[in-house]
Amino acid sequence: MAVKGLFKAFSGGSSGDSKTESISVITSDDYARRIEVLDDFEQAGISWLWATDEEGRLIYLSEKAAENLNKPIGELLSVPLTALFENDPDNPDEKSDRPLHYKFRKRSKINDLVVRRIPATLTQGDRPTWWMIAAHPKFDDAGQFHGYRGNAKDVTLEYQRKLEDSRLAEFDSLTGLANRHRMDSQLNGILGAFKAASRSCAIMMLDLDRFKQVNDTMGHPAGDELLKQVATRMRKIIGDRGEIGRLGGDEFQIILPDIDDRGKLGELADKIVKIISQPYPIGEKSAVIGTSIGIAVAPYDGVEKDELVRSSDLALYAAKNSGRGQFRFYSADLKDEEEKRRLLVEDLRDALENDQLDLHYQPVVRTDDHMVVGFEALMRWVHPERGAVSPDVFIPIAEELNLINQLGEWALRRACVDAMHWPKSVRIAVNVSAVQFANRDFPEIVRKALADSGLEPDRLELELTESVFLGDSETTDNMFKTLKEQGIRLALDDFGTGYSSLSYLRSAPFDKIKVDKSFVDSCTQKDKNSAKIIAAIVSLSDALGMETTVEGVEAFDQFSLVCSKGARYIQGYIYSKALKLSEIEEKMGSGEFRIEPDGPELYRPDRRTVFRRIGAIHEDHRYDVVMRDLSKTGARFEGMLGVPVGTKLVLDLGGGQLVISTVIRANESMLATEFETPLVNDGAGGLCTRHRVSPYDLASAGMPLAALPPGNYPLSHNISGQAGKPQFMQVAI
Ligand code: C2E
Ligand code: CA
Ligand code: CA
Repeated sequence: MAVKGLFKAFSGGSSGDSKTESISVITSDDYARRIEVLDDFEQAGISWLWATDEEGRLIYLSEKAAENLNKPIGELLSVPLTALFENDPDNPDEKSDRPLHYKFRKRSKINDLVVRRIPATLTQGDRPTWWMIAAHPKFDDAGQFHGYRGNAKDVTLEYQRKLEDSRLAEFDSLTGLANRHRMDSQLNGILGAFKAASRSCAIMMLDLDRFKQVNDTMGHPAGDELLKQVATRMRKIIGDRGEIGRLGGDEFQIILPDIDDRGKLGELADKIVKIISQPYPIGEKSAVIGTSIGIAVAPYDGVEKDELVRSSDLALYAAKNSGRGQFRFYSADLKDEEEKRRLLVEDLRDALENDQLDLHYQPVVRTDDHMVVGFEALMRWVHPERGAVSPDVFIPIAEELNLINQLGEWALRRACVDAMHWPKSVRIAVNVSAVQFANRDFPEIVRKALADSGLEPDRLELELTESVFLGDSETTDNMFKTLKEQGIRLALDDFGTGYSSLSYLRSAPFDKIKVDKSFVDSCTQKDKNSAKIIAAIVSLSDALGMETTVEGVEAFDQFSLVCSKGARYIQGYIYSKALKLSEIEEKMGSGEFRIEPDGPELYRPDRRTVFRRIGAIHEDHRYDVVMRDLSKTGARFEGMLGVPVGTKLVLDLGGGQLVISTVIRANESMLATEFETPLVNDGAGGLCTRHRVSPYDLASAGMPLAALPPGNYPLSHNISGQAGKPQFMQVAI
């Protein structure tokens, strides 16, 4: 009733109405009583009133509002409202709203805008405050602006609750990381804004290896605890370089704005792999997991979100397939690789049944007298159409298809039988995949292979990689114990490449460590750390009463260095590649087997033999050449005649990878060039450039903005196609 009366009073009243004559209405000219009403209204705290002058300074503010701000009204009047309040950057609803000061400048109407008290204006003991304000600009009849007239109310409680709700909707409650929803919208926002500004943004897709096993054996609470610790480690590594999200289960994503340097991205990914793979204390127990990472960079590998995410997924898939605990950059070839793999998958099942698989044996030689002390059994697959397929390719496929247990058992039984042909002093080493090791029945399979062949248990050595430690430590320890009880030997293979935690060595009963080829490869280079690491591993295993075998020695410079560091056993091409059983029997006869080292004097540091068409660009002309080998610092290729030493050429390695290089040797049509900037590791044992041609540059030269296709990359300045006159002769190869 009162409200109705008030309404009538304000709308001027109708003195002719008989019902209103009996009550005391407030007429529009009754200023005193109108003010009283306003006062009551303000006092009730329903809403406060405020007004500014044309400069935006407060000329009026309700007392209660001043109380709310915890300041005497005198201190607030004449202060600009925008010096007290601002838009809240965290407000989930008003992301697209214009800032308050902008509205003030434009003198536009303000509708229920939530603003936050500028934190710097809070004095000690004040709580953060949010107000909802609405206001109209006041113009006089001449169109002159006279400031704002508005109301306000404190919405702090409701606002904070809403903020919390939206935080829950955007963040994963277990780890506190962003959830898929937030990551998607962040990525969309960033890519949209960056497209306009020609900026780059990398994303990493991570998938934990063996998380499921921990969850299954140790229970869900342990799995949850593990995920929390993973999140903490990731936050530490990434810091404020980017945003980390958990997309679900054991899948994570990292958005890294403004990074396109694949050297830096590779180093970061490597660090993540290493740190995630360190053991996790969980209650009284401990668990180990690994991670694989796929990396894609916008705009090179995708301009829009979906495309970029697809690229990083494909890279992740490739990383998982090429042995776990690795990172991989997206490249257009991955699609072909995927297809090749799909075809192999179908053929591998047949291979097992049709006897296409074989075992070859690589000698392990004692360096002081060059005597063969053992052999490592290495699987070989000769595909009827494709020829030899590397075990590095088919073993991971077998693991994925669940064929590895069958394949591994076949190799084990076969190796034990074959070893019976050799002198008793000669051991046989068999590789065991982590999948086999995780199989409960594995000790029984080993026992039967020994019993059926008659091989003495101490002549059998099982080679395990650090990935067998993934999972919960109790199960792993039990498996070690059961195997050792049978009297067989255990070797830690590829030491130093994977998860590399010395704590494994302390707890596991290894008889031997195998130093990975990668240390040997780099030990004769300028970086002498690898040589020191080899020396350290040799003395460490001496101290722990273990043997060391150094793998992958090919040249004499490596051989003498490795021997000088104390290595007593070597397995490498300098002695022999893997041999067929018949070849071994021929050479060994019934007696002993001795091999003289033989190989090149010097090892060519990480020079990879390749055979690939690339482009060589000189001024405005592009030549088709064939690359013969590639290292971090240079390449050799064939296909151009008459090029003088010192000529600068841009090499187009495909996928937008251009390398500026200088010819350092020319021998007929074979050229050797040195790169201006060294290449970096691509995570898959190959090399790539740090940077690529930007699709933004190509777009500005008239090409559509899209992820880089695999084709040829002319420099952006000659995209128009007006290639100049060739200076050198193109030779067909
Ligand atoms: P791995 O266990 O590290 O085996 C050593 C690899 O290095 C072999 O490659 C061997 O041929 C190669 N190698 C040895 N000396 C040299 C050298 O001086 N220079 C160079 N460039 N390479 C050398 P391979 O036979 O291609 O085997 C690759 C990987 O496949 C093995 O690495 C192993 O992880 C896996 N693998 C092979 N056979 C089996 C098997 O029966 N079971 C399982 N689970 N994995 C196997
Ligand atoms: Ca091995
Ligand atoms: Ca190895």
